Amino acid sequence: MEEEPTSACLKAWGRKTSARRLCLVHGYKGVKFQNWARTYGCYPEMYYQPTSVEEIREVLALARQQNKRVKVVGGGHSPSDIACTDGFMIHMGKMNRVLKVDTEKKQVTVEGGILLADLHPQLDKHGLALSNLGAVSDVTAAGVIGSGTHNTGIKHGILATQVVALTLLTADGTVLECSESSNAEVFQAARVHLGCLGVVLTITLQCVPQFYLQETSFPSTLTEVLDNLDSHLKKSEYFRFLWFPHSENVSVIYQDHTNKPPSSSANWFWDYALGFYLLEFLLWISVYPSPSQPLQEKEKQGEG
Ligand SMILES: Cc1cc2nc3c(=O)[nH]c(=O)nc-3n(C[C@H](O)[C@H](O)[C@H](O)COP(=O)(O)OP(=O)(O)OC[C@H]3O[C@@H](n4cnc5c(N)ncnc54)[C@H](O)[C@@H]3O)c2cc1C
Repeated sequence: MEEEPTSACLKAWGRKTSARRLCLVHGYKGVKFQNWARTYGCYPEMYYQPTSVEEIREVLALARQQNKRVKVVGGGHSPSDIACTDGFMIHMGKMNRVLKVDTEKKQVTVEGGILLADLHPQLDKHGLALSNLGAVSDVTAAGVIGSGTHNTGIKHGILATQVVALTLLTADGTVLECSESSNAEVFQAARVHLGCLGVVLTITLQCVPQFYLQETSFPSTLTEVLDNLDSHLKKSEYFRFLWFPHSENVSVIYQDHTNKPPSSSANWFWDYALGFYLLEFLLWISVYPSPSQPLQEKEKQGEG
């Protein structure tokens, strides 16, 4: 990875001493970006990890000068090439602070690059929590709203519905304060921004009082779950089911609020050895066609 501290900046801004002072941000050449699953990757021409709004503004100014496109990346968990670019890439990992916790309104304002995994313990200190989460928390606040990340529960919206305000830095360097009452149309669009409206600098999230969930899981069949989907959705606040490919088997999971204190029924053998590693191995095997499938296909063709 080759560091390109200020040369691109100097080229763009000229070599005057006063201009050099403007060159705050260090960019890197030769960085390979890959998404979490390593299914997509790219080589951005320049890779930046800004630490302030001024530094992001500088990257945008350079991009305008050099007619480059800019992509922002958060946790890089999107299973598509949505964050990829051969232009300038801005990684928001250093803009990851909690800026304000309003315990009265139960709202938290964070920088867009904060990982939800880092936000949870901060909310915990104030007795607060996010009402709904996706399956993993190594994702950023701006990233999850960018792609319409959702969890489960018929009464819960996607994570972006927890956003009450955000600030957006647009391509020309303007900061837009967005909420239901200010730049309302941009706000609605930015709640699933797909990374194409500007740089999401800060986000204010509506939280809820901290709560405990009790999980119940049981086996069922795909047919049963699909036939009784409405009933399952009503029975549990956070209902989900996991389907085992090439089979009728599903694992149904109900999660509901409880006042019971957390119990430590965790068991390494069941939870990790079988529940994680063996399951992951079986799922990996299951992506290959079942040996009985071609036979079934042949039988069907024979019937036809
Ligand atoms: C193991 C795993 C489990 C998952 N589980 C779920 C799940 O349960 N439910 C679900 O809905 N999804 C799930 N996802 C998908 C994931 O939640 C989304 O892809 C989410 O967008 C990832 O967030 P991120 O911070 O990694 O964003 P990235 O992938 O880095 O970026 C997503 C988009 O946001 C843009 N972006 C990021 N930060 C900014 C910013 N500051 N300003 C402007 N644009 C920005 C990017 O350009 C891109 O367009 C899962 C993914 C993985 C790998």
